[in-house]
Amino acid sequence: MAPRRRGKPPRHFADLTPAERVASVEAMGEKPFRAKQLATHYFTHFTADPAEMTDLPAATRDEVARTMFPQLIRPTRRLEADGGTTVKTLWHLFDDAKVESVLMRYPNRTTLCVSSQAGCGMACPFCATGQLGLTRNLSTAEIVEQVRAAMRSLARGEIPGGPTRLNNLVFMGMGEPLANYKAVIETVRTLVAPQPEGLGMSARNITVSTVGLVPAIEKLTKEGIPVTLALSLHAPDDDLRSELVPINTRWSVDEALDAARRYFEVTGRRVSIEYALIKDMNDHAWRADLLGEKLNARGKGWVHVNPIPLNPTPGSIWTASERAVEAEFVARLRAHGIPTTIRDTRGSDIDGACGQLAADEEDE
Ligand code: SAH
Repeated sequence: MAPRRRGKPPRHFADLTPAERVASVEAMGEKPFRAKQLATHYFTHFTADPAEMTDLPAATRDEVARTMFPQLIRPTRRLEADGGTTVKTLWHLFDDAKVESVLMRYPNRTTLCVSSQAGCGMACPFCATGQLGLTRNLSTAEIVEQVRAAMRSLARGEIPGGPTRLNNLVFMGMGEPLANYKAVIETVRTLVAPQPEGLGMSARNITVSTVGLVPAIEKLTKEGIPVTLALSLHAPDDDLRSELVPINTRWSVDEALDAARRYFEVTGRRVSIEYALIKDMNDHAWRADLLGEKLNARGKGWVHVNPIPLNPTPGSIWTASERAVEAEFVARLRAHGIPTTIRDTRGSDIDGACGQLAADEEDE
């Protein structure tokens, strides 16, 4: 099959800064205050349907629909688990690229996992998305639209438990967020801008997860937006990490940890270390000790570790660690004084957040 042509997604309201929104409505011959009306519809009421924007003149609504709110993401599959409180959505983009997002509702909080790229270029062999290769970067609006859809669904009470708000957002879906830096940081700015100019989230409740692109971590450190940084480490030694996270040949374990430590120093935000526990691969007690030592060498209280039982991808020879091995790994880290919590594997029965659904479709 010939490769499909990829281009830039159409420009959308959510791609615009507040000043650009004003300029756009003025270009339509409208008064500047219309920009705030549109922002209120979009960011406060989560609607992108101009037909619902009845405070706009009817004639303007058509033009607004055409020029400001093209449909960028279309849900094509929806999978539920945990009694409907975990929902994974597969989205088709304007050029038929595919991404997914996963919404998880807990008794006292809600978390959305979003994609920042279609596919991923980082090629980590245990990750389903890594096997797809990179299709393209998402635009800011393509990411924001995933968030708006989740917020609307929660506000409308579509998730069991009654209407609620979105508390947490993690960039742990498809893609390497720091390889799509500009769109991701613009998304973050929109997420944290107070309503109605943005979605009014707290930066500390947003987690940017990265394989460790050191220059991009350094740039993020200087943004002055205290998001939570997660570093996908998966091994404390360069030999193994270069196999599990190939970009390690460019920026080593020590360089990635130094950048993470500086992130903490400047932002005061405790960094998360992600560590997928893979049976007989990276789950040895000595590796837990080495990890504990490398973290402590950079100070106390700046970091915590999230081991994640490997979610095996189709065709992979790897599986999750034995329970006793996992327990020992955690105990060793804690013995070094490192706060350690096994990450929840919600949605693993619907291949949550590991690119598997989109990978299936690519195979079809
Ligand atoms: N590219 C970014 C964010 C996306 S992946 C990153 O690598 O951090 C989000 C997290 O899921 C990362 O920690 C990643 O290593 C982990 N992950 C990927 N595939 C997994 C699998 N099969 N089982 C468990 N965790 C996985």
